[in-house]
Amino acid sequence: DRREIPASEHRIDPKLLDERAVRVVETLQQAGHEAYIVGGAVRDLLLGLRPKDFDVATSATPEQVKGLFRRAFIIGRRFRIVHVIHGRGREHEVIEVSTFRALLDSADAATVNGNEKTAKRELEGRLAGQGHVVDASGRVLRDNVWGPQHEDAARRDFTVNAMYYDPVRELVVDYHGGYADARARRLRMIGDPASRYREDPVRIVRVIRFAAKLGCGIEEATRAPIVEMAALLDNVPASRLFDEMIKLLQTGHALASVEQLRAFGLHRGVFPILGVALDDRSPQPARDRFVQLALADTDRRVGEGKPVAPGFLLACLLWHEVQGRWQDRRDAGEPVFPALQAAIDEVFEARIGDISGRGKLAADMREIWAMQPRFDKRSGSGPLGLVDQPRFRAGFDFMRLRAEAGEIDPALAAWWEAFSQARLDNDNEAQNELL
Ligand code: ATP
Ligand code: MG
Repeated sequence: DRREIPASEHRIDPKLLDERAVRVVETLQQAGHEAYIVGGAVRDLLLGLRPKDFDVATSATPEQVKGLFRRAFIIGRRFRIVHVIHGRGREHEVIEVSTFRALLDSADAATVNGNEKTAKRELEGRLAGQGHVVDASGRVLRDNVWGPQHEDAARRDFTVNAMYYDPVRELVVDYHGGYADARARRLRMIGDPASRYREDPVRIVRVIRFAAKLGCGIEEATRAPIVEMAALLDNVPASRLFDEMIKLLQTGHALASVEQLRAFGLHRGVFPILGVALDDRSPQPARDRFVQLALADTDRRVGEGKPVAPGFLLACLLWHEVQGRWQDRRDAGEPVFPALQAAIDEVFEARIGDISGRGKLAADMREIWAMQPRFDKRSGSGPLGLVDQPRFRAGFDFMRLRAEAGEIDPALAAWWEAFSQARLDNDNEAQNELL
């Protein structure tokens, strides 16, 4: 049942709204369509947080939406949506506009998971005919059937993520008790949790991420199937899991997210890279100290509104593996730099290799690692060459974390701090004194 919550009750702070998202809603409404701010943004507004992005849901089709805005692009195949672009260059902002989607019956999804191959094939065909495409394990691969708002709400994951906000009438629209759950800071799956996790196992990672980010509890029926269902994450394409891991680690709540994963025993076995960094089957205090510092540092940076590069954190997570292999090679008599290069190649091959299309990330990681032994040289022309490198800052921040973790002498970090500052200030005297 549909409930409309007025401003006197929800008390959403208008200052937290994004003007451009409001204008997109107004434009759609003026053209005669239903339009709302939807999902995570409504949730964050109700919790008094500033949403990091605003999505809009509408009764208009992607083509109709595109026709109403000067710069709008239909994107996606699995899930066609429209990107409405405001502004240019670095300052540009994207508002995602999606058309209300019809409900994929979770009973259908459950049937697909049965063992009867014929039923499965028949259902796949039926769903495909409707614009739904489902794989053999019941995962929805494509989903482009339009429907009414209440069906759009029912296909969302958690009740707090399934609310709509009309900024013109200042009404929150709620079909699944999301408003009460937001007030109680409680994550509750819409529908039967086990079927919904089966439909899309990534929801397991999402519930953990939201619990960490929002400081919310997980309602019992939503929590209960998590551990058992986690094996289904094996069916999720590596690149989607990789993106989820990055979200988990870079939205300002990395430490809390890792603690949540641990509480479910999912810190290993879900994300291969995280598994390497968090494996607790044998004690590795030096690695743990470093990883903990890196996660805390990432949270601090995000909290201060500073950019975080995924390559940096991944380089931190895999550093001890690189270091171990590097040490082995040096022990075997290989020279320092080639040994490091070979260790980097091995770790890359083993942990990153199959994730394609991430050239910048890979280059960042390699460069951060390869730079580390160069910090040992504090005289001659080496230091100048190093500070003038475009990625010096990332390499230096990494080295400073190593020093903080007790892996190398803090004096080394202090020296480089002073030297790079002198270089920034163009202070030749100070530079020469240090060299
Ligand atoms: P964040 O603040 O991390 O962006 P969000 O809730 O906005 O959180 P998105 O991934 O941006 O998360 O998704 C937007 C909305 O789409 C969600 O609020 C939810 O309603 C719906 N949604 C996203 N992923 C799923 C999913 N896997 N299953 C069901 N609904 C989903
Ligand atoms: Mg979002």
